Amino acid sequence: MGAVANIVIVGGGAGGMEIATKLGRKLGRKGKAKITLIDCADSHIWKPLLHEVATGALDIGIDAISYRGHAAAHGYHFQQGAMTDIDREHKQVILAPILDEKGNELLPARRIDYDYLVLAIGSIANDFKIPGVREHCVFLDNTQQAMQIRTMLLNKFMRYASHHQLDDKIKIAVVGAGATGVEMSAEMHHAVEQLSGFGYKIDTSLLEVTLIEADSRILPKVEKQEISQAVTNQLNQIGVRVMTNTRIDRVDESALHTCDGQTIASDMTIWSTGVKAPDFMREIGGLESNQINQVMVKPNMQTTRDPHIFAIGDCAACPQPDGSWVPPRGQSARQMALMTADNISLMLAGQPPSKEYLYKDLGSLVNLSKFHTVGNLMSFIGGGVLVEGKIARFVYTSLYRRHLIELHGIFKGTLLMFAKGISRIIHPHLKLH
Ligand SMILES: Cc1cc2nc3c(=O)[nH]c(=O)nc-3n(C[C@H](O)[C@H](O)[C@H](O)COP(=O)(O)OP(=O)(O)OC[C@H]3O[C@@H](n4cnc5c(N)ncnc54)[C@H](O)[C@@H]3O)c2cc1C
Repeated sequence: MGAVANIVIVGGGAGGMEIATKLGRKLGRKGKAKITLIDCADSHIWKPLLHEVATGALDIGIDAISYRGHAAAHGYHFQQGAMTDIDREHKQVILAPILDEKGNELLPARRIDYDYLVLAIGSIANDFKIPGVREHCVFLDNTQQAMQIRTMLLNKFMRYASHHQLDDKIKIAVVGAGATGVEMSAEMHHAVEQLSGFGYKIDTSLLEVTLIEADSRILPKVEKQEISQAVTNQLNQIGVRVMTNTRIDRVDESALHTCDGQTIASDMTIWSTGVKAPDFMREIGGLESNQINQVMVKPNMQTTRDPHIFAIGDCAACPQPDGSWVPPRGQSARQMALMTADNISLMLAGQPPSKEYLYKDLGSLVNLSKFHTVGNLMSFIGGGVLVEGKIARFVYTSLYRRHLIELHGIFKGTLLMFAKGISRIIHPHLKLH
């Protein structure tokens, strides 16, 4: 180890950005350690907002946080690059070359030294190797993909508005009715409502959104069945067609084919069924991983095979005392990040990393765009309290408020929320360019 410890965090998402900020303020600014955040992108968007980016409800020009600017203000360094491997023998992270849009090399492959490494690269949608999914579906795993969906939607709506036959509908299928799929379905109806106000000759009666779920109810991971029922009712009211007990067997250019022989026509299919860590994470650097490529960690977030490497958030498989695994959620990524920062600080002080992670479910909230918000809160009190409407919406947005306050401090974080509120008043409600 050099004069000061090199702490490297790979992935600046919901978890990685919070640990980099906390360690940067606590150790980096005081010269007690060198903190480096690596991300393949140049700016941070909080992933639970990606469906809003995809429909244009959120403008990344306003909401994205530049990693370089944030690093300079919070005592850490930033390196842009995509991790491809870890060389544990030499304690180095290996980054792919950076290419420009024409494929010319801007930066060669690089190796970054670490004394402590935190893996926080998140997850991607699991295609379960179903034929046609990779080729014919779109995904909502990162900002680029969300922007791609936005462009595809706007192009479809623009063409449709000038060429459509009245008996013809824009057919959009969303596969997977977890929070992402449900929120995306509602957000699309909201986008069409807004677009018709901007002179596009379309309205929601021309939009056919089908939400498809293999389980017997939507939101199958949400414990309370009442929430699934309330959300199903609301989606039906908005006009989303909900199909449960429906398993996709293959996808082609214009349709989805179900295991029980049905064909569902689709102009655009958004795939959002479950998550896995990216394939290159399978046994990366010889670390132990599970069947969905998550790195196995101990309850203190140290990887099972290397005490100097930690993994947090969606890419980590963290066991709980009852034998379950921590679910891939924004709230768990955040809680793991803050605790891991404490464990690394303990190790730097020569003490064992003794803090252990116990998942605290603060509740599940589903936001159906402007239409409704529903969920349960504080599920540790007798199974939780069902909340709906404005209270639920306030709590839902408070998760993002907390993230901003963690990243910017209470004063600037609160000011930013006000600024975003004002921006929503003075700018159109959809980003159209
Ligand atoms: C549309 C949507 C809505 C959601 N809504 C909710 C919600 O309401 N509540 C909730 O609790 N959870 C929600 N989630 C889940 C939540 O977003 C994730 O659980 C959470 O973001 C995981 O945090 P993370 O830090 O592990 O990964 P992420 O936040 O995904 O961050 C991963 C980071 O790693 C970077 N990266 C990836 N690969 C590499 C690489 N090879 N090299 C370098 N950098 C890399 C990425 O650019 C990204 O910045 C939602 C997810 C989606 C997609």
